[in-house]
Amino acid sequence: MSFAIYAHPEFDAHETVLFGYDAATGLRAIVAVHSTHLGPSLGGCRMYPYADEAEALTDVLRLSRGMSYKAALAELPQGGGKSVIIGDPRADKTPALMHAMGRLVGRAAGSYIVAEDSGIGVADIRAMAEETAHVSGLAAEGAPGDGDPSPATALGTFLAMQVAAERALGSRDLAGVGVAIQGAGRVGTALAQHLRDAGARLWVSDTHALSAKACAQATGAEVVAPEAIYDVPVDIFAPCALGAVLSAATIPRLRARAVVGAANNQLATVADDARLLEAGVLYAPDYVVNAGGIIDIHYHRQGPYDAASARRHLDAIPRTLGQVLDAAQAEGRPAGAVADALARARIGRG
Ligand code: NAD
Repeated sequence: MSFAIYAHPEFDAHETVLFGYDAATGLRAIVAVHSTHLGPSLGGCRMYPYADEAEALTDVLRLSRGMSYKAALAELPQGGGKSVIIGDPRADKTPALMHAMGRLVGRAAGSYIVAEDSGIGVADIRAMAEETAHVSGLAAEGAPGDGDPSPATALGTFLAMQVAAERALGSRDLAGVGVAIQGAGRVGTALAQHLRDAGARLWVSDTHALSAKACAQATGAEVVAPEAIYDVPVDIFAPCALGAVLSAATIPRLRARAVVGAANNQLATVADDARLLEAGVLYAPDYVVNAGGIIDIHYHRQGPYDAASARRHLDAIPRTLGQVLDAAQAEGRPAGAVADALARARIGRG
């Protein structure tokens, strides 16, 4: 098997792509640094049983560029990077493997700072921190909780939803507004709690039935089967589970007037950005909406944790989303394309 790096469709002038291997632990991992134009790159480490290294490379390159865009639009002094470990987090993860990953992160010499992502938790970051100083996602002195960014991600998504509702429904007041949440995990459930407090009507789905049930009990949401969530007659659809859920197959089914959710890479293809516009559905670009987590991580990294400043910075999310949606409407362009152009200008690639 062979694959291109510089000619890879997702390469997009990455500054560094580091392939790591550790014979003692079997670590196979890739660190991708898309841009350090605004500062050292920061992004999560994902551990996933990729079918092969080509799949892992495509994933890390796409995610890394997304982190550049996210940090730029969140007005953070940092760049975008990401790392992936090829393996099953439930079966293959050991402290020695995490130490080896920490050494690989160290070889990026501070151009990449690692954080949690799918399959990698706070304990794993602590193990990496025994080998490198270039870690984040751990609680700062004086901070509430353990540094988990999900509550901030959920709050940022809620603030973004108010702006999207103003544009799509005529009012930012979410009382009585119907919202379908796909994924009752850490972010989806916390978002449901904000929405319940705002008086929204809620529907929720999760492939893990107990998660959906727990969210419903905590928030009064109605549980819907995972495949049926696209068809619920709501005002807002909130993807908070996984990527590539907005596609030629699902967009025509949506009854919602707006899509605002925390999941990364929601568009299955670039064409789905325009497809949403043509369908009359307002799309709030995912990386604008879900930046609350990296904003919070930034304040943990500064330490001691300044909750008031972190909360004020979250207002960059609705502010930027408003700018993107206004420009999209004025120019008749899909919101995702407008956000991408703004992000690229901020990282010197306009
Ligand atoms: P999580 O793992 O806690 O929750 C995800 C939930 O989605 C799980 O309960 C899972 O069972 C469910 N799910 C998986 N496939 C599903 C499907 N097809 N239909 C319905 N439910 C399904 O993850 P999280 O931390 O809540 O993150 C949710 C999403 O937001 C992810 O895409 C993540 O990448 C993104 N995100 C999270 C953060 C954060 O701070 N946690 C920040 C930015 C982006």
